[in-house]
Amino acid sequence: MVSGLSDNLRKIHRIKGRCETQNEVDELLEKLWSEYEERGEDLRPDHTLKLDIPEKVLKKAIDLGYLEEKEDTLSLTQSGYERARQLIRSHRLAERLLADILDFSEDETENEACRYEHLLDEYAIDSVCSLLGHPRTCPHGKKIPEGRCCTEVEIRYRPLVVPLTELTPGEEAEVKYLGTVDSSRLSHLTSFGFTPGQKIYLVRKRPAYVVKIDETMVGLDDEIARLIFVKPTRNIVAKVSRRNRFFRWKKSER
Ligand SMILES: [Zn+2]
Ligand SMILES: [Zn+2]
Repeated sequence: MVSGLSDNLRKIHRIKGRCETQNEVDELLEKLWSEYEERGEDLRPDHTLKLDIPEKVLKKAIDLGYLEEKEDTLSLTQSGYERARQLIRSHRLAERLLADILDFSEDETENEACRYEHLLDEYAIDSVCSLLGHPRTCPHGKKIPEGRCCTEVEIRYRPLVVPLTELTPGEEAEVKYLGTVDSSRLSHLTSFGFTPGQKIYLVRKRPAYVVKIDETMVGLDDEIARLIFVKPTRNIVAKVSRRNRFFRWKKSER
């Protein structure tokens, strides 16, 4: 299963790999972050940069709004700073995931983390961070920049993929796979439009599940609904402020 996951990600990476220059821009931003870090400084927006950057990469970084050229000075923009921060965060969390959970060797971890950082979006990365218990450092002891999931409000995440029965009415999701090998059930579900990649919308849960697929309404009983595994469009299920949690804890103590 682990190797299947990694094969899939490799495939996606090859498709994304066409945006070669974008990746060179990303490498540049990460290099910047690491250079400042090694000097014991924090990279900040508006920093004047003294760098030897290939013309093509420089142009792309400026076009993307990550760097800004004014007269003779080159500086990092706010969005360039945020991109750099996000890439470093993704890379280091990917290292933790690969090394600690998936038992990748040190070499594999290093190679794969470079790929994953371009694949995982902010939402997936916050889920990984929560899964790992909001680690503060990577396996090399370098600091992982904090995400929304790590700060004052505790954000609870569901697994990335859940049975349809876990959605709340009004939620949108994408079908990922069907959890059955029974061919008559499979063809039944497929004929209704439950195929991987299909966007669905849960209308209601009682008395039966009603799902909207494109313009069609489909009714399902609980047993069938449990076989449909979906990725919700948004994955935050609850925001619990630390103060409230503390208060509840105090109350239940008595
Ligand atoms: Zn590391
Ligand atoms: Zn976190």
